[in-house]
Amino acid sequence: MALQFLGLQKTSLIDYPGKLAAVVFTHGCPLRCPFCHNPELVQGPRPESFLPAEEVLDFLRKRAKLLGGVVITGGEPLLHADLPQLIGEIGALGLSVKLDTSGALPQPLAEILRLEAVTYVAMDIKTAPNRYQELGVEWAPVAASMELLRASGKVYEFRTTCAPGLADPAELAAIGAAIRPGERWTRNAFRPGSCLDPAWNALPHTPADRLA
Ligand code: SF4
Repeated sequence: MALQFLGLQKTSLIDYPGKLAAVVFTHGCPLRCPFCHNPELVQGPRPESFLPAEEVLDFLRKRAKLLGGVVITGGEPLLHADLPQLIGEIGALGLSVKLDTSGALPQPLAEILRLEAVTYVAMDIKTAPNRYQELGVEWAPVAASMELLRASGKVYEFRTTCAPGLADPAELAAIGAAIRPGERWTRNAFRPGSCLDPAWNALPHTPADRLA
């Protein structure tokens, strides 16, 4: 799957900790999280707003001195065999890269972690290990990706969306058991509105006290 077209958010202050960043989006994902709020990046044709990759790289070349880094997110960026080349081109501009991933593809993750430009990885942990099959993937590759991050020397964090029924207290406890003391684990609110499974739009936003 070639990265000939990419989504682009020109500026973000919140997606790359400590850096002013551009955000680059890829299309396609092996998971089907019902709560996914970017369904247009998961299935169907790529969004019309996507630009030719060379146009995105031109923008990054012009802004390289102003930007601190580039976040590559999806979808699942690791689905694309030419991701290392894209990261290499971004790194050649002097920009560091943060990767957002589901952790479902440890083999390409291992390759990406060898790239100097990659300084930060945020990996989602969606639900308890024994519930992963409901999302279309096994837990074993996700666990393998966690170990790769631990051995990588890169800065990393785990993230969980508190999706009702998938990341309630029992599942959060099981996820917590897989995370080691001192590791960064961010819990995010579930937000209905544009879920991959439209039935999930009737479910409530995660209340602040539950998140706490
Ligand atoms: S939430 Fe992330 S991993 Fe899940 S379907 Fe959406 S893009 Fe894929």
